[in-house]
Amino acid sequence: MKTEINLHDEWDREHLWHPYTSTINPLPTYKVDSACGAVLRLADGTELIDGMSSWWCACHGYNHPRLNAAVERQLHSMSHVMFGGLTHEPALRLGRLLLGMAPDNMHNIFYADSGSVAVEVAMKMAVQAAISRTADHRRTNFVTIRSGYHGDTWNAMSVCDPVTGMHQAFGSALPVRYFVPQPRSRFGGEWQQADIEPLREVLDTRGHEIAALILEPIVQGAGGMWFYHPEYLRQAVKLCRDRGIYVIFDEIATGFWRTGRCFAWEHAGVKPDIMCVGKGLTGGYMTMSAVLTTAEVADTISRGEAGVLMHGPTFMANPLACAVAAESLTLLREQDMAAVVGHMESRMRELLAPAATLPGVTDVRVLGSIGVVETRRPVDVGEFQKLCVAKGVWIRPFGRNVYIMPPYVVSDGQLERLCAALLELVEQTAC
Ligand code: PMP
Repeated sequence: MKTEINLHDEWDREHLWHPYTSTINPLPTYKVDSACGAVLRLADGTELIDGMSSWWCACHGYNHPRLNAAVERQLHSMSHVMFGGLTHEPALRLGRLLLGMAPDNMHNIFYADSGSVAVEVAMKMAVQAAISRTADHRRTNFVTIRSGYHGDTWNAMSVCDPVTGMHQAFGSALPVRYFVPQPRSRFGGEWQQADIEPLREVLDTRGHEIAALILEPIVQGAGGMWFYHPEYLRQAVKLCRDRGIYVIFDEIATGFWRTGRCFAWEHAGVKPDIMCVGKGLTGGYMTMSAVLTTAEVADTISRGEAGVLMHGPTFMANPLACAVAAESLTLLREQDMAAVVGHMESRMRELLAPAATLPGVTDVRVLGSIGVVETRRPVDVGEFQKLCVAKGVWIRPFGRNVYIMPPYVVSDGQLERLCAALLELVEQTAC
């Protein structure tokens, strides 16, 4: 069979560790030779319509001529210089563009290496600022909502969901955080005031230990693909502000128009003190993230004991990454992204709606360019992906969520084929 050629590269299987994968019984991997627009081309020539944007990041699709040209231009002047004591035009250009898109209270930008590192930096910022502001060294903990996901490094793991996240594997090695239930009021549904009460209680009883609330605004991604009511954010931010507790929005997955707005906070109209962006920042070309914060947080840190923010990665503000990120943001600014994503949203709503009638499906939800079909039973990823490849699409489910967030360049025809394949495969494997 044609696809079998791609299935098991023995050297890969033997030596390369893939994400969350066993070395004894690894899931199959498929060898990609090239990618263009919304299509991945495998080594045997099989073409797959990409439903994943390479885990949210390839927002303009692959091999984009403008992004390619931006990298090439930058390559000829310098690929990297240290950011300690030096600066450069790509960092400045990107910074100006980012501040122009961010909430208007954002003032300082810290470039970091990946989403997880951005979360580490944001948490370090919150702790340094909270101690400096209150002179209270107990203000070092965090509160978050269950079913969240913030990355795989130590502190990021500690605020991931304690059940579905990595707490069991790492046990007492992880710092202990405060968790409140996931808001059950759906996005677009009715607001239930009871949702906010657990947070109020923790802030009232434990507020003196808490530097910040950290959460993914509106869309909880890898922790369950759940879309919650904007009122939760409005009330959560007010509760924190009233108690002098900082708010961190992790917009790493939701940023750059994924939810139908440039950033997800806009659905609620409340601004964070610290905000993390990543993934789509470079259009999926390179790993890079940024942490944005207010002048108050930045200056409070700078007046504190250390007098500086204690972080400074080697590849900070990598010029190649900055150059491609600046071009990616320019591409977003040049288009009517609300219309582009609005169109994807209405098409996906229509195309995925029939899934709701399938017996193995418990929920179907769409927001912006994200479509989710939740199944009764967990999906067998290996089997599902084998069937996907045979159908010419690329979807990687996890747990009970089969979801897509295609690149914004996906055509109507490609989106139709993607959604049709998703429906058939869910019916075949989960019903
Ligand atoms: N925060 C969120 C909301 C994410 O979705 C992710 C990645 N899935 C991260 C943080 C971590 O980003 P990275 O994988 O780039 O470290």
